[in-house]
Amino acid sequence: MHDIRPDFPILSRSSRNRPLVYLDNGATTQKPTAVVDAIAKYYRQHNANVHRAAHELAEEATSMMEAARDGTRRFINAQAREEIVFTRGTTESINLVANVLADRVQPGQDIVISELEHHSNIVPWQLLAQRRGANIRAIAITDAGDLDLAHAAELITDNTAILAVSHISNGLGSVNPVGTLIDMAKKVNALTLIDGAQAVLHERIDVAALDCDFYVFSAHKMFGPTGIGILYGKLDLLNALPPWQGGGEMIERVSIKTSTYQAAPFRFEAGTPNIAGAVGLGAALEYLEPLPLADLVTQEESLVAETLIELEKIQGFRLIGRPKQRSSVISFLLEGAHPNDVGTLLDQQGIAVRAGHHCNMPLMDRLEIPGTVRASFSLYNNEADAEALIEGVAKATTFL
Ligand SMILES: *Cc1c(COP(=O)(O)O)cnc(C)c1O
Repeated sequence: MHDIRPDFPILSRSSRNRPLVYLDNGATTQKPTAVVDAIAKYYRQHNANVHRAAHELAEEATSMMEAARDGTRRFINAQAREEIVFTRGTTESINLVANVLADRVQPGQDIVISELEHHSNIVPWQLLAQRRGANIRAIAITDAGDLDLAHAAELITDNTAILAVSHISNGLGSVNPVGTLIDMAKKVNALTLIDGAQAVLHERIDVAALDCDFYVFSAHKMFGPTGIGILYGKLDLLNALPPWQGGGEMIERVSIKTSTYQAAPFRFEAGTPNIAGAVGLGAALEYLEPLPLADLVTQEESLVAETLIELEKIQGFRLIGRPKQRSSVISFLLEGAHPNDVGTLLDQQGIAVRAGHHCNMPLMDRLEIPGTVRASFSLYNNEADAEALIEGVAKATTFL
């Protein structure tokens, strides 16, 4: 068993006078020493603005940031480094796409999402739909929490402008058949965006094989820092789209009345970027590269499966969602208790989970529940974490 846990210093701290049991990885992952150190080293030794001044520090900062772009390209198998746009996170990536696609959505056309989506893959499309007079359609889920592919086939038609769905649901852990959905969308010439925020650490991402138009994710959910995210877009498409934000770095030439713009990715990166964030992302990718990721994911999946078996033995435990393929998330309720109260009882035992709607209000409405308690695992969680959760939940039931 390969143990990456010692690489994450925060995991050896305590919480509420107990050893920390961190099971809120769906919200953000912890950072390995390599990432923390890379960010500090960048500020100690290299800090400068990028792509501008002709001095040594600026050259170093620029090449560190651009190395992170190369690392990201390799990580998701994009064809060209120019296909990697840095943003603030998944949310900003989707907002960016929804803004620059405005001219490609005609009044009366459909934007197809699903009932499983995170708010950040719903609200930007609503804003676009309102602007353009388009309709939002949502692929239904089954009671088990899988996307209903028959319904998807009904919704994805010649009238579909965009299909935007998540690769893995942050609320239920369902792994969605994105390959099939992308194929459906391509048959009707719809554009495709995949929200990969939960998938990047748990699936091997190959955008060339998926053949989606856009793939978006956040560094902070894959051991990198907050404040930096990725928008992958097909190069021809990116270069055919208008800019979003205007400012420095994104222009070729500016006069008082008009400007011309850089090609991708810089066209979409106005202003001083999150350089330290990019450096941290680069360090996270370098950290991940030599790891046996497939083995770690298999280990994590068996840990989740074993934990679930034990949790289901607890009186009053109600699992929410039984998707065909589950990734790293266990969403549940305890009989007669509000999820927030369960979250508090677990927190008192040093167990960090999330309670609430998880930015999935439409999903909670569909399931007719106020929210869930969500334990979300990552590659460093171990048997001790699982045991603590099982004991913690059992103990919580005795208080309720
Ligand atoms: C976390 C998450 C987001 C939002 O990511 P930010 O980093 O907050 O922008 C979007 N979609 C899914 C599936 C997520 O898990």
